[in-house]
Amino acid sequence: MGKIGFSNMVYKVDITIVGAGIVGLSIAAQVASKGREVCVLEKNRTFGLETSSRNSEVIHAGIYYPEGSMKARMCVEGKDMLYELCQREAIPHKRCGKLIVASEYEEIERLEMLHKNGERNGVTDLRMLSRQEIKEFEPHVEAIAAIFSPSTGIVDTHALMKYYVNKAKENGGMIAYNSRVIDIEKVSYGYKVMIEEPTGNFSFITKVLINCAGLNCDKMAELAGIDIGKAGYKLHFCKGEYFSVGHGKNTLVKRLIYPVPPNKGGGLGIHIALDLEGRMRLGPNARYVDKIDYTVDSEQRKAFYESVVRFLPFIEYDDIEPEMAGIRPKIEEPDGGLKDFVIKHEYDRGLPGFINLIGIESPGLTACPSIAKDVANMVDEIVA
Ligand SMILES: Cc1cc2nc3c(=O)[nH]c(=O)nc-3n(C[C@H](O)[C@H](O)[C@H](O)COP(=O)(O)OP(=O)(O)OC[C@H]3O[C@@H](n4cnc5c(N)ncnc54)[C@H](O)[C@@H]3O)c2cc1C
Repeated sequence: MGKIGFSNMVYKVDITIVGAGIVGLSIAAQVASKGREVCVLEKNRTFGLETSSRNSEVIHAGIYYPEGSMKARMCVEGKDMLYELCQREAIPHKRCGKLIVASEYEEIERLEMLHKNGERNGVTDLRMLSRQEIKEFEPHVEAIAAIFSPSTGIVDTHALMKYYVNKAKENGGMIAYNSRVIDIEKVSYGYKVMIEEPTGNFSFITKVLINCAGLNCDKMAELAGIDIGKAGYKLHFCKGEYFSVGHGKNTLVKRLIYPVPPNKGGGLGIHIALDLEGRMRLGPNARYVDKIDYTVDSEQRKAFYESVVRFLPFIEYDDIEPEMAGIRPKIEEPDGGLKDFVIKHEYDRGLPGFINLIGIESPGLTACPSIAKDVANMVDEIVA
Protein backbone atom coordinates (compact mmCIF):
# COMPACT_ATOMS: atom_id res chain seq x y z
CA MET A 1 0.00 0.00 0.00
CA GLY A 2 3.01 2.27 0.62
CA LYS A 3 3.50 2.01 -3.15
CA ILE A 4 0.36 3.98 -3.78
CA GLY A 5 1.39 6.79 -1.50
CA PHE A 6 -0.31 6.19 1.84
CA SER A 7 2.81 6.28 4.01
CA ASN A 8 3.47 9.11 6.49
CA MET A 9 -0.07 10.45 6.64
CA VAL A 10 -3.33 9.60 8.36
CA TYR A 11 -5.25 8.33 5.42
CA LYS A 12 -9.03 7.90 5.41
CA VAL A 13 -10.87 5.50 3.13
CA ASP A 14 -14.63 4.97 2.76
CA ILE A 15 -14.63 1.20 2.36
CA THR A 16 -11.91 -1.36 3.03
CA ILE A 17 -12.16 -5.01 2.11
CA VAL A 18 -9.79 -7.55 3.66
CA GLY A 19 -9.01 -10.35 1.19
CA ALA A 20 -8.64 -10.50 -2.59
CA GLY A 21 -10.28 -13.87 -3.12
CA ILE A 22 -13.34 -14.30 -5.30
CA VAL A 23 -15.64 -13.00 -2.55
CA GLY A 24 -13.67 -9.85 -1.66
CA LEU A 25 -13.11 -9.06 -5.34
CA SER A 26 -16.75 -9.50 -6.37
CA ILE A 27 -17.76 -7.19 -3.52
CA ALA A 28 -15.06 -4.65 -4.49
CA ALA A 29 -16.29 -4.56 -8.09
CA GLN A 30 -19.90 -4.11 -6.97
CA VAL A 31 -19.26 -1.48 -4.31
CA ALA A 32 -16.78 0.52 -6.43
CA SER A 33 -19.37 0.68 -9.22
CA LYS A 34 -21.34 3.10 -7.01
CA GLY A 35 -18.51 5.63 -7.16
CA ARG A 36 -17.24 5.02 -3.63
CA GLU A 37 -13.62 4.93 -2.53
CA VAL A 38 -12.76 1.25 -2.10
CA CYS A 39 -9.52 -0.35 -1.02
CA VAL A 40 -8.83 -4.10 -1.00
CA LEU A 41 -6.01 -5.38 1.23
CA GLU A 42 -4.39 -8.68 0.33
CA LYS A 43 -1.53 -10.29 2.23
CA ASN A 44 -0.26 -12.29 -0.75
CA ARG A 45 1.64 -10.97 -3.79
CA THR A 46 -1.48 -11.17 -5.98
CA PHE A 47 -5.17 -12.04 -5.90
CA GLY A 48 -6.79 -15.44 -5.52
CA LEU A 49 -3.90 -17.60 -4.34
CA GLU A 50 -5.87 -19.38 -1.60
CA THR A 51 -9.25 -21.15 -1.56
CA SER A 52 -10.44 -19.35 -4.68
CA SER A 53 -7.83 -21.14 -6.79
CA ARG A 54 -8.08 -24.46 -4.95
CA ASN A 55 -11.56 -25.70 -5.69
CA SER A 56 -13.61 -27.63 -8.27
CA GLU A 57 -14.65 -24.50 -10.24
CA VAL A 58 -18.19 -25.79 -10.38
CA ILE A 59 -21.17 -23.50 -10.86
CA HIS A 60 -23.49 -25.36 -8.51
CA ALA A 61 -27.22 -25.58 -9.20
CA GLY A 62 -28.36 -25.29 -5.54
CA ILE A 63 -29.52 -28.85 -4.87
CA TYR A 64 -27.91 -29.71 -1.55
CA TYR A 65 -28.41 -26.79 0.83
CA PRO A 66 -31.21 -26.59 3.41
CA GLU A 67 -34.34 -24.80 2.21
CA GLY A 68 -34.39 -21.17 3.31
CA SER A 69 -30.63 -21.04 3.98
CA MET A 70 -28.40 -18.30 2.63
CA LYS A 71 -26.40 -21.01 0.88
CA ALA A 72 -29.50 -22.17 -1.02
CA ARG A 73 -30.78 -18.71 -1.93
CA MET A 74 -27.39 -17.29 -2.91
CA CYS A 75 -26.38 -20.39 -4.87
CA VAL A 76 -29.53 -20.36 -7.00
CA GLU A 77 -29.42 -16.60 -7.51
CA GLY A 78 -25.62 -16.52 -7.94
CA LYS A 79 -25.72 -19.26 -10.57
CA ASP A 80 -28.06 -17.25 -12.80
CA MET A 81 -26.08 -14.05 -12.23
CA LEU A 82 -22.82 -15.85 -12.96
CA TYR A 83 -24.01 -17.37 -16.24
CA GLU A 84 -25.34 -13.99 -17.33
CA LEU A 85 -22.05 -12.28 -16.42
CA CYS A 86 -19.85 -14.96 -18.05
CA GLN A 87 -21.85 -14.78 -21.24
CA ARG A 88 -21.86 -10.98 -21.37
CA GLU A 89 -18.16 -10.59 -20.55
CA ALA A 90 -16.87 -13.65 -22.46
CA ILE A 91 -15.53 -15.28 -19.28
CA PRO A 92 -14.77 -18.92 -20.16
CA HIS A 93 -17.40 -21.28 -18.77
CA LYS A 94 -19.44 -24.29 -19.81
CA ARG A 95 -22.93 -25.41 -18.85
CA CYS A 96 -21.83 -29.06 -18.97
CA GLY A 97 -24.48 -30.51 -16.65
CA LYS A 98 -24.06 -33.04 -13.87
CA LEU A 99 -25.31 -36.42 -12.73
CA ILE A 100 -25.67 -37.42 -9.08
CA VAL A 101 -25.67 -41.19 -9.22
CA ALA A 102 -26.95 -43.94 -6.94
CA SER A 103 -24.95 -47.17 -6.99
CA GLU A 104 -27.07 -49.07 -4.46
CA TYR A 105 -30.81 -49.38 -3.91
CA GLU A 106 -30.53 -47.88 -0.41
CA GLU A 107 -29.29 -44.65 -2.02
CA ILE A 108 -32.34 -44.09 -4.19
CA GLU A 109 -34.45 -42.70 -1.36
CA ARG A 110 -31.70 -40.14 -0.60
CA LEU A 111 -31.50 -39.27 -4.27
CA GLU A 112 -35.25 -38.59 -4.30
CA MET A 113 -34.95 -36.47 -1.17
CA LEU A 114 -32.18 -34.46 -2.82
CA HIS A 115 -34.35 -34.01 -5.91
CA LYS A 116 -37.18 -32.62 -3.78
CA ASN A 117 -34.80 -30.45 -1.80
CA GLY A 118 -33.41 -28.96 -5.01
CA GLU A 119 -36.92 -28.20 -6.22
CA ARG A 120 -37.79 -26.52 -2.92
CA ASN A 121 -34.67 -24.37 -3.38
CA GLY A 122 -35.91 -23.25 -6.81
CA VAL A 123 -33.87 -25.61 -9.00
CA THR A 124 -36.67 -26.34 -11.42
CA ASP A 125 -34.86 -28.23 -14.18
CA LEU A 126 -33.82 -31.43 -12.34
CA ARG A 127 -34.76 -34.81 -13.81
CA MET A 128 -34.54 -38.35 -12.44
CA LEU A 129 -32.85 -40.80 -14.83
CA SER A 130 -33.24 -44.58 -15.03
CA ARG A 131 -30.30 -46.97 -15.46
CA GLN A 132 -30.97 -47.07 -19.20
CA GLU A 133 -31.13 -43.28 -19.53
CA ILE A 134 -27.86 -43.00 -17.58
CA LYS A 135 -26.25 -45.33 -20.13
CA GLU A 136 -27.53 -43.12 -22.95
CA PHE A 137 -26.14 -39.98 -21.25
CA GLU A 138 -22.87 -41.46 -20.02
CA PRO A 139 -22.12 -44.94 -21.38
CA HIS A 140 -19.09 -45.42 -19.11
CA VAL A 141 -20.88 -44.67 -15.84
CA GLU A 142 -22.40 -47.49 -13.80
CA ALA A 143 -25.45 -46.53 -11.73
CA ILE A 144 -29.01 -47.62 -11.08
CA ALA A 145 -30.57 -44.15 -10.83
CA ALA A 146 -29.45 -40.55 -11.09
CA ILE A 147 -30.47 -36.93 -10.85
CA PHE A 148 -29.61 -34.96 -13.98
CA SER A 149 -28.88 -31.29 -13.31
CA PRO A 150 -28.59 -29.47 -16.65
CA SER A 151 -27.79 -26.07 -15.10
CA THR A 152 -24.63 -27.19 -13.28
CA GLY A 153 -21.48 -25.99 -15.04
CA ILE A 154 -17.85 -25.00 -14.74
CA VAL A 155 -16.11 -21.63 -14.87
CA ASP A 156 -12.58 -20.34 -15.25
CA THR A 157 -12.26 -18.91 -11.75
CA HIS A 158 -9.01 -17.08 -12.50
CA ALA A 159 -10.62 -15.29 -15.47
CA LEU A 160 -13.62 -14.42 -13.28
CA MET A 161 -11.37 -12.96 -10.57
CA LYS A 162 -9.38 -11.05 -13.20
CA TYR A 163 -12.65 -9.58 -14.50
CA TYR A 164 -13.58 -8.41 -10.98
CA VAL A 165 -10.09 -6.95 -10.40
CA ASN A 166 -10.34 -4.93 -13.63
CA LYS A 167 -13.90 -3.84 -12.89
CA ALA A 168 -12.98 -2.66 -9.39
CA LYS A 169 -9.96 -0.74 -10.74
CA GLU A 170 -11.91 0.79 -13.65
CA ASN A 171 -14.29 2.19 -11.06
CA GLY A 172 -11.47 3.72 -9.04
CA GLY A 173 -10.94 0.88 -6.54
CA MET A 174 -7.42 0.13 -5.25
CA ILE A 175 -5.94 -3.28 -4.56
CA ALA A 176 -2.94 -3.35 -2.25
CA TYR A 177 -0.96 -6.61 -2.38
CA ASN A 178 1.61 -7.72 0.20
CA SER A 179 -0.54 -5.91 2.78
CA ARG A 180 -1.47 -8.07 5.76
CA VAL A 181 -3.99 -6.76 8.27
CA ILE A 182 -2.50 -7.26 11.73
CA ASP A 183 -4.72 -5.09 13.93
CA ILE A 184 -8.15 -3.48 13.93
CA GLU A 185 -9.24 -0.80 16.38
CA LYS A 186 -12.68 0.79 16.66
CA VAL A 187 -12.36 4.60 16.49
CA SER A 188 -14.96 7.36 16.27
CA TYR A 189 -14.89 7.63 12.44
CA GLY A 190 -14.88 3.85 11.89
CA TYR A 191 -11.88 1.53 12.17
CA LYS A 192 -8.16 2.06 12.42
CA VAL A 193 -6.55 -0.74 10.42
CA MET A 194 -2.91 -1.65 10.96
CA ILE A 195 -1.19 -3.36 8.04
CA GLU A 196 2.16 -5.06 7.72
CA GLU A 197 3.99 -4.57 4.45
CA PRO A 198 7.48 -5.55 3.29
CA THR A 199 8.59 -1.95 3.95
CA GLY A 200 7.12 -1.76 7.48
CA ASN A 201 3.81 -1.30 9.29
CA PHE A 202 1.38 1.53 8.93
CA SER A 203 -2.23 2.30 9.72
CA PHE A 204 -5.13 4.15 8.17
CA ILE A 205 -8.77 4.76 8.96
CA THR A 206 -11.78 3.34 7.18
CA LYS A 207 -15.48 4.01 7.67
CA VAL A 208 -16.60 0.57 6.53
CA LEU A 209 -14.54 -2.60 7.00
CA ILE A 210 -15.56 -5.80 5.21
CA ASN A 211 -13.96 -9.04 6.39
CA CYS A 212 -13.48 -11.42 3.43
CA ALA A 213 -10.33 -13.02 4.80
CA GLY A 214 -11.32 -16.61 3.98
CA LEU A 215 -9.31 -18.99 6.16
CA ASN A 216 -8.39 -16.06 8.43
CA CYS A 217 -11.84 -14.53 8.76
CA ASP A 218 -12.26 -15.65 12.38
CA LYS A 219 -8.91 -14.03 13.29
CA MET A 220 -10.09 -10.75 11.67
CA ALA A 221 -13.35 -10.87 13.65
CA GLU A 222 -11.32 -11.46 16.82
CA LEU A 223 -9.03 -8.51 16.04
CA ALA A 224 -12.17 -6.35 15.85
CA GLY A 225 -13.03 -7.46 19.41
CA ILE A 226 -15.57 -10.21 18.78
CA ASP A 227 -15.56 -13.26 21.05
CA ILE A 228 -15.49 -15.77 18.18
CA GLY A 229 -16.19 -18.73 20.46
CA LYS A 230 -19.43 -17.17 21.73
CA ALA A 231 -20.39 -15.83 18.29
CA GLY A 232 -19.93 -19.26 16.69
CA TYR A 233 -17.36 -17.84 14.27
CA LYS A 234 -14.44 -20.11 15.12
CA LEU A 235 -13.20 -21.83 11.95
CA HIS A 236 -12.39 -25.49 11.53
CA PHE A 237 -10.22 -26.34 8.54
CA CYS A 238 -11.52 -29.15 6.37
CA LYS A 239 -9.07 -30.22 3.70
CA GLY A 240 -10.18 -31.36 0.26
CA GLU A 241 -7.60 -33.26 -1.81
CA TYR A 242 -7.72 -33.97 -5.55
CA PHE A 243 -6.16 -36.70 -7.69
CA SER A 244 -5.69 -36.20 -11.43
CA VAL A 245 -6.93 -38.89 -13.81
CA GLY A 246 -4.52 -39.83 -16.60
CA HIS A 247 -4.12 -42.39 -19.35
CA GLY A 248 -6.62 -40.68 -21.66
CA LYS A 249 -9.61 -41.50 -19.41
CA ASN A 250 -10.66 -37.84 -19.39
CA THR A 251 -12.61 -38.28 -22.62
CA LEU A 252 -14.87 -40.99 -21.19
CA VAL A 253 -17.44 -38.70 -19.55
CA LYS A 254 -18.96 -35.42 -20.69
CA ARG A 255 -20.60 -34.31 -17.48
CA LEU A 256 -19.63 -33.90 -13.84
CA ILE A 257 -20.40 -37.15 -12.03
CA TYR A 258 -21.13 -37.07 -8.28
CA PRO A 259 -22.12 -39.84 -5.89
CA VAL A 260 -25.01 -39.47 -3.44
CA PRO A 261 -23.36 -37.32 -0.76
CA PRO A 262 -22.34 -38.93 2.52
CA ASN A 263 -24.67 -38.19 5.46
CA LYS A 264 -21.81 -36.67 7.42
CA GLY A 265 -18.25 -35.59 6.79
CA GLY A 266 -18.30 -32.11 5.30
CA GLY A 267 -18.18 -32.66 1.52
CA LEU A 268 -20.34 -33.74 -1.41
CA GLY A 269 -18.49 -37.03 -1.89
CA ILE A 270 -15.47 -37.66 -4.13
CA HIS A 271 -16.63 -36.89 -7.66
CA ILE A 272 -15.38 -36.25 -11.17
CA ALA A 273 -14.43 -32.64 -11.67
CA LEU A 274 -13.72 -31.52 -15.23
CA ASP A 275 -12.02 -28.30 -16.23
CA LEU A 276 -12.40 -26.18 -19.33
CA GLU A 277 -9.27 -27.73 -20.89
CA GLY A 278 -10.91 -31.14 -20.62
CA ARG A 279 -8.73 -32.38 -17.74
CA MET A 280 -10.34 -34.78 -15.30
CA ARG A 281 -9.79 -34.85 -11.54
CA LEU A 282 -11.24 -36.84 -8.67
CA GLY A 283 -12.03 -35.05 -5.45
CA PRO A 284 -12.30 -33.44 -3.12
CA ASN A 285 -12.32 -35.66 -0.05
CA ALA A 286 -13.03 -34.02 3.31
CA ARG A 287 -10.60 -34.32 6.21
CA TYR A 288 -10.51 -32.00 9.20
CA VAL A 289 -6.95 -30.74 9.77
CA ASP A 290 -5.22 -28.52 12.34
CA LYS A 291 -3.21 -26.32 10.03
CA ILE A 292 -3.12 -24.92 6.51
CA ASP A 293 -1.00 -27.34 4.51
CA TYR A 294 -1.79 -28.00 0.85
CA THR A 295 0.27 -31.16 0.35
CA VAL A 296 -1.72 -34.13 -0.94
CA ASP A 297 -1.33 -37.33 1.03
CA SER A 298 -0.53 -40.01 -1.55
CA GLU A 299 -1.73 -42.60 0.99
CA GLN A 300 -5.26 -41.44 0.12
CA ARG A 301 -5.01 -43.04 -3.34
CA LYS A 302 -6.64 -46.29 -2.21
CA ALA A 303 -9.55 -44.49 -0.54
CA PHE A 304 -10.08 -42.36 -3.68
CA TYR A 305 -9.97 -45.34 -5.96
CA GLU A 306 -12.36 -47.39 -3.83
CA SER A 307 -14.88 -44.62 -3.43
CA VAL A 308 -15.29 -44.01 -7.19
CA VAL A 309 -14.72 -47.38 -8.83
CA ARG A 310 -18.26 -48.56 -8.04
CA PHE A 311 -19.76 -45.87 -10.33
CA LEU A 312 -16.71 -45.16 -12.53
CA PRO A 313 -15.55 -48.71 -13.36
CA PHE A 314 -13.22 -47.43 -16.09
CA ILE A 315 -10.89 -45.88 -13.50
CA GLU A 316 -7.94 -48.08 -12.62
CA TYR A 317 -5.73 -47.72 -9.57
CA ASP A 318 -2.74 -46.59 -11.64
CA ASP A 319 -4.71 -43.89 -13.48
CA ILE A 320 -4.77 -41.52 -10.53
CA GLU A 321 -2.01 -39.29 -9.15
CA PRO A 322 -2.00 -36.78 -6.27
CA GLU A 323 -2.68 -33.30 -7.69
CA MET A 324 -3.67 -30.46 -5.37
CA ALA A 325 -5.69 -29.54 -2.30
CA GLY A 326 -7.89 -26.78 -0.96
CA ILE A 327 -9.13 -26.06 2.53
CA ARG A 328 -12.73 -25.32 3.49
CA PRO A 329 -13.23 -22.58 6.10
CA LYS A 330 -15.96 -24.37 8.06
CA ILE A 331 -17.78 -23.06 11.10
CA GLU A 332 -19.28 -26.48 11.69
CA GLU A 333 -17.23 -28.80 13.84
CA PRO A 334 -16.36 -32.32 12.71
CA ASP A 335 -19.61 -34.30 13.06
CA GLY A 336 -21.49 -31.08 13.85
CA GLY A 337 -24.71 -30.07 12.08
CA LEU A 338 -24.65 -28.07 8.84
CA LYS A 339 -24.02 -24.37 9.29
CA ASP A 340 -24.98 -21.54 6.98
CA PHE A 341 -22.82 -18.68 5.69
CA VAL A 342 -22.50 -15.80 8.15
CA ILE A 343 -22.84 -12.48 6.29
CA LYS A 344 -23.54 -9.89 8.90
CA HIS A 345 -23.28 -6.20 9.66
CA GLU A 346 -22.08 -6.26 13.27
CA TYR A 347 -23.78 -3.08 14.55
CA ASP A 348 -25.56 -5.08 17.27
CA ARG A 349 -22.15 -6.04 18.68
CA GLY A 350 -21.27 -2.37 18.91
CA LEU A 351 -19.36 -2.48 15.63
CA PRO A 352 -21.26 -0.30 13.15
CA GLY A 353 -19.69 -0.40 9.70
CA PHE A 354 -18.00 -3.77 10.30
CA ILE A 355 -19.31 -6.52 8.00
CA ASN A 356 -18.27 -10.11 8.59
CA LEU A 357 -18.28 -12.90 6.02
CA ILE A 358 -17.52 -16.07 7.94
CA GLY A 359 -17.50 -19.68 6.79
CA ILE A 360 -17.77 -18.91 3.06
CA GLU A 361 -17.12 -22.44 1.90
CA SER A 362 -18.87 -24.10 -1.05
CA PRO A 363 -20.93 -22.80 -2.83
CA GLY A 364 -19.07 -19.52 -2.24
CA LEU A 365 -17.73 -19.33 -5.78
CA THR A 366 -21.17 -19.84 -7.33
CA ALA A 367 -22.80 -17.50 -4.83
CA CYS A 368 -20.27 -14.62 -5.14
CA PRO A 369 -22.39 -12.30 -7.35
CA SER A 370 -25.33 -12.71 -4.99
CA ILE A 371 -23.13 -12.23 -1.91
CA ALA A 372 -21.71 -9.07 -3.51
CA LYS A 373 -25.21 -7.73 -4.13
CA ASP A 374 -26.29 -8.30 -0.51
CA VAL A 375 -23.12 -6.81 0.94
CA ALA A 376 -23.41 -3.77 -1.36
CA ASN A 377 -26.93 -3.23 0.03
CA MET A 378 -25.55 -3.35 3.58
CA VAL A 379 -22.90 -0.81 2.60
CA ASP A 380 -25.60 1.45 1.11
CA GLU A 381 -27.41 1.43 4.45
CA ILE A 382 -24.23 2.21 6.37
CA VAL A 383 -23.01 5.10 4.23
CA ALA A 384 -26.44 6.43 3.26
C1 LIG B 1 -11.87 -28.16 -1.99
C2 LIG B 1 -12.86 -27.07 -2.29
C3 LIG B 1 -13.71 -27.19 -3.38
C4 LIG B 1 -14.65 -26.20 -3.65
N1 LIG B 1 -15.42 -26.27 -4.77
C5 LIG B 1 -16.30 -25.30 -5.05
C6 LIG B 1 -17.09 -25.37 -6.22
O1 LIG B 1 -16.91 -26.24 -7.05
N2 LIG B 1 -18.03 -24.40 -6.43
C7 LIG B 1 -18.24 -23.40 -5.53
O2 LIG B 1 -19.16 -22.61 -5.73
N3 LIG B 1 -17.46 -23.27 -4.43
C8 LIG B 1 -16.49 -24.19 -4.19
N4 LIG B 1 -15.68 -24.08 -3.09
C9 LIG B 1 -15.82 -22.91 -2.24
C10 LIG B 1 -15.11 -21.68 -2.81
O3 LIG B 1 -13.84 -22.04 -3.31
C11 LIG B 1 -14.96 -20.65 -1.69
O4 LIG B 1 -16.24 -20.40 -1.13
C12 LIG B 1 -14.40 -19.32 -2.18
O5 LIG B 1 -13.24 -19.51 -2.95
C13 LIG B 1 -14.10 -18.44 -1.00
O6 LIG B 1 -13.53 -17.26 -1.47
P1 LIG B 1 -13.00 -16.16 -0.46
O7 LIG B 1 -12.70 -14.96 -1.25
O8 LIG B 1 -13.98 -16.04 0.68
O9 LIG B 1 -11.70 -16.83 0.19
P2 LIG B 1 -10.18 -16.90 -0.31
O10 LIG B 1 -10.07 -17.26 -1.73
O11 LIG B 1 -9.47 -17.76 0.68
O12 LIG B 1 -9.67 -15.41 -0.17
C14 LIG B 1 -9.40 -14.83 1.08
C15 LIG B 1 -8.23 -13.90 0.89
O13 LIG B 1 -8.01 -13.19 2.11
C16 LIG B 1 -6.61 -13.00 2.23
N5 LIG B 1 -6.28 -12.72 3.64
C17 LIG B 1 -6.45 -13.55 4.69
N6 LIG B 1 -6.01 -12.96 5.82
C18 LIG B 1 -5.58 -11.73 5.47
C19 LIG B 1 -5.02 -10.64 6.20
N7 LIG B 1 -4.80 -10.71 7.53
N8 LIG B 1 -4.69 -9.51 5.54
C20 LIG B 1 -4.89 -9.41 4.19
N9 LIG B 1 -5.40 -10.43 3.44
C21 LIG B 1 -5.76 -11.55 4.09
C22 LIG B 1 -6.03 -14.32 1.75
O14 LIG B 1 -4.66 -14.22 1.40
C23 LIG B 1 -6.93 -14.65 0.58
O15 LIG B 1 -6.40 -14.19 -0.65
C24 LIG B 1 -14.73 -25.06 -2.79
C25 LIG B 1 -13.85 -24.94 -1.71
C26 LIG B 1 -12.91 -25.93 -1.47
C27 LIG B 1 -11.95 -25.77 -0.33
